[in-house]
Parts: sequence; C-alpha cells; structure tokens
Amino acid sequence: MKKAVVVIGAGIAGLAAAIRLRAAGHEVTIYEANAYAGGKLTEIRGAGYRFDAGPSLFTMPQYVDELFTLAGKDPRDYFQYERLSTICKYFWDDGTELTTSMDKEKTAQNISNTLGESSKVVRHHLSDAETKYNLTGRTFLEHSLHKLKSWLHSSTVTSIMQLYKLDLHRSMHGVNKSRFTNAKTVQLFDRYATYNGSNPYKTPGLLNIIPHYEYGFGAYYPKDGMHSIIKAILKLTADLGIEIKYNSKVESIQHENGKVTGVLTYGDFKPADIVISNMDVYYTYKYLLERKAKARQIKKQERSSSALIFYWGVKGKFPELDLHNIFFAEDYKAEFDAINRGEVHDDPTVYVNISSKHTESDSPADSENWFTMINVPHDSGQDWKLIAEQARKNIIAKLSSLLHVSLSELIEYEDILDPVLIDKRTSSHTGSLYGTSSNSMWAAFLRHPNFTSTLDGLYHCGGSVHPGGGIPLCLLSAKIVDDLIRTKFSSK
Ligand code: FAD
Repeated sequence: MKKAVVVIGAGIAGLAAAIRLRAAGHEVTIYEANAYAGGKLTEIRGAGYRFDAGPSLFTMPQYVDELFTLAGKDPRDYFQYERLSTICKYFWDDGTELTTSMDKEKTAQNISNTLGESSKVVRHHLSDAETKYNLTGRTFLEHSLHKLKSWLHSSTVTSIMQLYKLDLHRSMHGVNKSRFTNAKTVQLFDRYATYNGSNPYKTPGLLNIIPHYEYGFGAYYPKDGMHSIIKAILKLTADLGIEIKYNSKVESIQHENGKVTGVLTYGDFKPADIVISNMDVYYTYKYLLERKAKARQIKKQERSSSALIFYWGVKGKFPELDLHNIFFAEDYKAEFDAINRGEVHDDPTVYVNISSKHTESDSPADSENWFTMINVPHDSGQDWKLIAEQARKNIIAKLSSLLHVSLSELIEYEDILDPVLIDKRTSSHTGSLYGTSSNSMWAAFLRHPNFTSTLDGLYHCGGSVHPGGGIPLCLLSAKIVDDLIRTKFSSK
C-alpha cells in the first residue's frame, strides 16, 4: 500500500533511500537543511577552479547504478565513469616512490621491486582481503545486524564458523607488521584504516578487507568528478517526481502512541507514515526526538576521525603526480597517537587529489586543482584556526621539499574545510567523516541500527548508522532501510 514517506536530509544515503522507496511506489518528499543536495558530497568553485569538496575516491559504482536500474532507467543515460588503471602514487620523505594499479600482479611486483617485499606475501595479503570480504561483505554489510532473520541465514552461519580467519583479535597494524618485512609496506597497508576514519594501531585486522574494494572491485573516476554522482542522482529524483524541499531544516519528528506521524519544519507539520532520517543519528535523538538519554548513550561511542582540507588552485603542471597521491608521514604511529590525543602531528601524511588530471576544465590552463587533505581528530573544542595555520606551513614545507618547488608561491586560490565547518554544513556530530569509528571489534554491533525499535515507522540511513560511512556503505544503508520497509509491509 502506498505510504507517505519523509526523508530528512539529501545526503547520498537520503537520496538513495528516497529513490528506492519511490521506485517501490511510495510518495516521497525530502527535506534538506541546505540550499543544495549531496551533504558532504558537494563541490566548491572559485577563480576558475572546481573542487570536489568531500569524497574523492569512488569505489563500488554498481551500488549507484543499482538506483537507476531499480527505477527502470539505464544508468549510462545519466552517469559515466571509468576504472582507474593507476590507483595511487605514494611518496616517502627519503625519495622512495611507488605506484599501485588496478592490476594486482603488477602492484605486487612494484611493491616487491621498490620495497623489497616478497610479491607472494603481497598477493597473499590481497587474496586474504578477498577472503575476508567473501566471509563478511554480504552477511554483515548488506543486512541489518539487528534482525534475527540476518543471523539465521546460511551465509551468516558459514561466516561465524570461520571467524578465526577475520583477525578480530589482532590490530590491523599487528597483522601487517607480522606479514611484511619493510616498514613502508606496513604503512601502505595500514593506511586503509583511514578509509573509514579509524586508527590502524587500534582497529581489528578485519579491516584489511578494505584493499579488496580497491584492487578487487576497482577504483573509479566519475566523468566530470565526484559531484557528478549527485547531479546524476538528482536528475533521477526529478524524473521520478520526488520533491526536494531545500532550505528546510526538520526541527522535530512527531509521534503518537509509539508511531511516527510526521515532521515539523519551521512550525509546519508534514504528515508521514514513514520517516527516514539521514541526519547524524546522535543529533536525530538529541534534537529531533529530544531523547537525551539515548543521545548520551550514542555519544559514548568513539567518533571516527575528521579532516582538514586545503583546496588549492596551483599554478603549474606536475607530471609526477596523478589523481590520487599520498605523501607519508615519517612516523605513522606518532601521527595516530597525536590524533588520539585530539592533536595534529607536525609531520602529517598528506593526501593530494587532483581531479583536473582527468577533468581538464576543473582548473585554468597550466594549473591544477589540489584537494590537499590531512587526517585530524574530530572536533573537541580545539583552536582550528591555529591548527590550520600550523598545518598549512608544515604541509607546504613537506610538499615543497618532495616536489622541489616553492609551493606557497604557486598557490593562487585557497579555501579551507575543518571539522567545525563539516559539522555546521552537514550536521555531522563533531565533524567526524564516517560517524563512529571502527576502532573496536564490537564497533559494527554498537553502531546504531537502521531503525528505532521503540518508534514504529522511524528508519535511519547514512554514515552514522549501520553499516557505516563512505559512499558504498551509505548506499547500502539505504538498501537495508528499503529491505526493512518492504519486509514490514509485505507481511501485513
Ligand atoms: P551527509 O553527506 O552527512 O549529508 C547529510 C545531509 O542531511 C546534509 O545535506 C544535511 O544538510 C542534511 N540534514 C541534516 N540534518 C537535517 C535536518 N534536521 N533537516 C534537513 N536536513 C538535514 N567517502 C568515500 O566513499 N570516499 C572518499 O574518498 C571519502 N572522502 C571523504 C572526504 C571528506 C573530506 C569527507 C567530508 C567525507 C569523505 N567520505 C568519503 C565520506 C562520505 O562523504 C560520507 O560517508 C557520505 O557522503 C555521507 O553521506 P550521508 O548520506 O551520511 O549524508
């Protein structure tokens, strides 16, 4: 039966949930606080430059395609992307450089030739990532962990029987250190913990699953950059007749007798049978439901890290750089120890993403658009202006020395994003990029479910709930919400 659905927030998960429910025949309205959709996945422009403001690495494009096929459309009519042959270029202070590529064998050989690692061990590491994915990917990421049905499924039972293969009791770093001989290889594979804002010295070895997303499924680049994902999805929402109300912050979720009845925006009541919140789940409980005790309980969970980003318009061309570039910290442990203390290390690992390498129009001729990011702690009241000033100096010194230029003289445009701005612009508690961290083996089970058990009709999607942050998992959260709603209404 057709239901009236309100989605709170037009982040990628909110948009995906809206499309799925519209495709299932429901009437869907999205309320978005900002004047634009996409949340963290937005873009900024200035002085002839365009930057993707948030995500830069695109994996699992099939989850985006699925939204179009579900709606009976051909994804290629809306959205194009290419698989990257070169995935990432890595640089160390001593001048070591390494390139990883979509070809696993070539990557293993490069690591062996450059870092003296056994290519057999690298191949084993990548196939172990695939084993871990096969054991947990579908079971734990594509279903609710909070419904008995998921636990009775035969694939779950198989996974549980093989828990010993998941390295749950050792840290990612511990596993990598025991496998590789060169500290640089350990650092290279430890870095994957940051893909969901975790700390490789704390997060379980299970997170060694992440390289499989890059080397197994592939890293991709959407034609015209990451923001084109949102543009394509927005075109689909329009074609499906989904209304998006911009500049419309939802202030409260209304309910009666344990069932949602609708939402309030600036005093206006919009009735709904189903409400899906794409707002950070902590803020949903704190502000939209005023359930302070539940909010406090969620707040106790460790948040994922955040980011400090300098969007730099840089004069000149750098043929030694690619789309994704990493300049490693010399002492990786010290960098994470600093983050753990709520501080920023003086020699941080610097990530430089240059979309103009693929989309020339993203920068003026003879220039490049550098999205320059370091991992930082979530906001806990630090002086971010001071931190950004210091980090800017350190990053410029590091990159200038490694690239043999005077970078400060080449920067002709600058914008900055810090944890406080991330919180302010997307209502993400403390500016965490990926909701709660995955630093404990229990994190997946503690992350909030995709529904509120005490309030019939209230569902949650997005990076702060199961299965977690990052574009692929946010899209899966929308799929799980869709499945939960289908199951609920098909059994009535
Ligand atoms: P968000 O993007 O958090 O958006 C939530 C939306 O809800 C916002 O538009 C907000 O305005 C709206 N909203 C909130 N409260 C209300 C309310 N009360 N009423 C109305 N509207 C409301 N992921 C990757 O996969 N690859 C990457 O390379 C990557 N890099 C990243 C780099 C950065 C700098 C950042 C910030 C994130 C990165 N991520 C990356 C993570 C990824 O961007 C997020 O996990 C994902 O975009 C979060 O989507 P979401 O659906 O949870 O919603």
